[in-house]
Amino acid sequence: MQDSNTIGGKDVAVHLHSYTNLAALPSTPPLVIVKGDGIHVVDDEGKRYVEGMSGLWCASLGFSNKRLADAGTQALNTLPYYHTFNQRTNPAVVELAERLLKLAPVPMSRVFFANSGSEANDSAVKMVWYYHNAIGKPEKKKIIARKRAYHGVTVAAASLGGLDANHRDFDLPLARFLHVDTPHHYYGAKPGETEDAFSTRLAEGLEQTILAEGPETVAAFIAEPVMGAGGVLVPPAGYFEKVQAVLAKYDILFIADEVICGFGRTGNMFGSTTFGMRPDILTCAKALSSGYVPISAVMVNAKVYDAIAANSGKIGTFGHGYTYSGHPVASAVALETLKVYEDEDILGNVAKVAPVFQAAARAFANRPMVGEVRGVGLIGAIELVADKAAHKPFAPEQKVGYRLAALALEEGVIVRAMGDAIGLCPPLIISAEQVTDMFARLARAFDKLE
Ligand code: PLP
Repeated sequence: MQDSNTIGGKDVAVHLHSYTNLAALPSTPPLVIVKGDGIHVVDDEGKRYVEGMSGLWCASLGFSNKRLADAGTQALNTLPYYHTFNQRTNPAVVELAERLLKLAPVPMSRVFFANSGSEANDSAVKMVWYYHNAIGKPEKKKIIARKRAYHGVTVAAASLGGLDANHRDFDLPLARFLHVDTPHHYYGAKPGETEDAFSTRLAEGLEQTILAEGPETVAAFIAEPVMGAGGVLVPPAGYFEKVQAVLAKYDILFIADEVICGFGRTGNMFGSTTFGMRPDILTCAKALSSGYVPISAVMVNAKVYDAIAANSGKIGTFGHGYTYSGHPVASAVALETLKVYEDEDILGNVAKVAPVFQAAARAFANRPMVGEVRGVGLIGAIELVADKAAHKPFAPEQKVGYRLAALALEEGVIVRAMGDAIGLCPPLIISAEQVTDMFARLARAFDKLE
């Protein structure tokens, strides 16, 4: 049991934790993080950790960016709150939307703002439904996502997701949400099947699902460029080209969930550019503000916007929006984040450091318990397996991934165990030397486990 005088002890008595085994919490002390500096965070005992996951894939500029802090402070001192309902706006949100439209990977028409990735995806779903009602196709409502996808935890976003923990005992997914096969070449491909052939098979599977459901009932397909929480799954060669050909054939909208990949993670400003995706709707969050304030965005193209705008004219309003949509403080911090990306050439740093990161990660492929190392840009995963030759996973109850992540913590590096895939997603400001140090710490954790 926890000492009730410590922060951790008090915490377990009052705090209903996100994504935690609540039953085990009283016997497992929470890690209390008290401050951050650069790519590091520091716990309440003064121990420093390399934050190899940027928190939850978001603190792209690290944990002590002064420009973002100053932008937030100034905004708080100028206009701490206002809303964007009923034709209200503020200067920061306008400039932020302008910048986002300029950065968009494909021509986009408007930007809607929310507070989290989940809300952005929830909003995208509602816009898809509203759009199809607006264009007189009210039966076109089903949304296809992928098994192992992660799109958030609101009722719609969790329904989009394809991870068991987000569905089980929450009575999800809702009807209208379907899941097709995961583009996971390591576990999903047949022996000897090339990435291209695997992609063809997945696209054919998608088409069969659409035909079985009735194309006139299928509204949209949603995909992360790289599936993050599902295990950092980089799409196999040709995947999005083949998928998009199917979507175009049946007039199905394409939503890109760029909540993790947006803003440089894969080497381009958006993962859509890296993988040739041409979405009608794009959602982003996390690195939009480097995680410093809650903010997310939904970009929609002219086809979608024009239809929903016309429909709102008939009803008298577009009945969707949050109290904090376009929040002036969040918008100011996000705007400053985008300026820092440009002024400090953060993509240039990714281009420089990513080859070092990917090579250092791939060096782990020689270890006996590593089945595959995958990644792109500054995101990657190391897949732990019981049998390399047979692609056989460890039994889940062995909790090998979690044990490795715990050993890594001892070595002063924070990584994320997604089952037995060890995820890495460091701040985009990381230097080549820091990458080398991060992997050296991880190697020591492996040595202890093997
Ligand atoms: N979409 C993706 C791809 C994510 O990785 C996440 C969160 O990790 C979300 C959506 C949900 O974002 P949030 O936790 O801000 O609601």
